[in-house]
Amino acid sequence: MAPRDDLGRQSHPAVAAAVAALTPSTEALRDLVRAFRSAMAAGLAGRPSSLKMLPTFVEQPRGDESGRVIVVDWGGTNGRVSVIELGGGDARMVAEDDFAFRESDRTGSAERVFDVIAGAVERVVRGESGPLPLGLVYSFPARLERVDRALALSLTKGWRTVGLEGHDVAELLRVALGRRGLGRVTVAAVANDTVAALILQSYRIRGHAAVATPAEVGLILGTGTNQAADLPGAGIRNHESGNFDGVEAVAAPWDRALDRELADPAPGAQRFEKMAAGGYLGEILRRAIVDLGRSTPLFRWAGSATDTPWSLDTVRLSGVAADESEDRSGTDEILRALGVISTLEERLAVRELARAVGGRAARLVAAALLGTLTFIDPELDSEHTVAVDGGVYGGYPGFAERVRDGLRELARAQRAGRVHLAYVKDSTSAGAAVIAAVAARRQA
Ligand code: ADP
Ligand code: MG
Repeated sequence: MAPRDDLGRQSHPAVAAAVAALTPSTEALRDLVRAFRSAMAAGLAGRPSSLKMLPTFVEQPRGDESGRVIVVDWGGTNGRVSVIELGGGDARMVAEDDFAFRESDRTGSAERVFDVIAGAVERVVRGESGPLPLGLVYSFPARLERVDRALALSLTKGWRTVGLEGHDVAELLRVALGRRGLGRVTVAAVANDTVAALILQSYRIRGHAAVATPAEVGLILGTGTNQAADLPGAGIRNHESGNFDGVEAVAAPWDRALDRELADPAPGAQRFEKMAAGGYLGEILRRAIVDLGRSTPLFRWAGSATDTPWSLDTVRLSGVAADESEDRSGTDEILRALGVISTLEERLAVRELARAVGGRAARLVAAALLGTLTFIDPELDSEHTVAVDGGVYGGYPGFAERVRDGLRELARAQRAGRVHLAYVKDSTSAGAAVIAAVAARRQA
């Protein structure tokens, strides 16, 4: 049956073709599940693989961790220090302080960076007494050697801090805290946001039932995407799954062009992320619109902001996908902000394309999750909890349900029903606090 738009009218053939290019077959997605599993195995065995499967040195919480923990979340221009109170499976933020860097700090010294961070720590611990464990969420590439030792790799996002690469970021923070006389604050762990999501959900589960099976997978779907999982025999690993390159097999022309034309991440890198994460979905839609505008009577919008790369962000894509207003006035507003006056037919076509891009992201996420879950439990005989956080998962209309649909599409329904997706909103600092508390207990 020919595809139809929301009003039940047959889609323009070129729009239908674009939607088809953005809709991988079930069989292709099943191949992706297998490819993801193989890439995990290769990464774990140290063979060449687009999945690095990095050790995290993090252990599952018991659920009885308690007390106050400091968390530093730093990965760019802005950062935050929080005081988190743990107890009974709950992680509650009791104080926080934001810090920000100047443009010039990006090429300044590591001492300067960690001094700014230590200053923010000093402000939040003023009212606290006694020893305090600290968890550092470090959102640049790093190689962990222990849970409390992470060597910085080359920086990203325009940062070129002097004296950082090759140095242990936990030690740099310790020294900066020492300069301020904050020796009672112990840098106990360097954490990753994806692992933090997993650990926070485990803490919630075990805080209420100590013998319960913890969460086994963490997933972030925000600006970027990543998975972490507790793997039998290998412990909790950080997949760096945004880099999974098996998606090339289901890429549309717009994905390939985006990958080719973007300098950072370099062509070939972060292929999965470039098709599934919030940093890219809007741009994929924009590229499809521009292309169709050249080959069809629709979208003759040259001269508007749609010519400009990255002008259509994923929040707007969500707005279009969610728009059920009469005459699609919500979409009209979004397009007007880009300098476009559209017809109803065009608005309906944009909505079809937006939903194709968003729906594909959900099915790709389902396939990648099944790769991990069937690596752990090939027949999905047991129940499994996946902890998920991120702006796309929480913000795209019906995203969680689309992922569940994808799981049912790719696994038998009964087995898909054993996979529980737990949305752990704003999990990063709370989860890092649990990671630091677990590490501090072991170090004590
Ligand atoms: P990160 O920590 O990776 O920057 P977050 O989890 O905070 O990401 O999510 C922010 C990202 O989520 C934004 O960059 C945007 O791409 C996406 N996002 C935010 N709101 C929405 C929304 N309503 N619909 C779809 N994507 C959204
Ligand atoms: Mg985040």
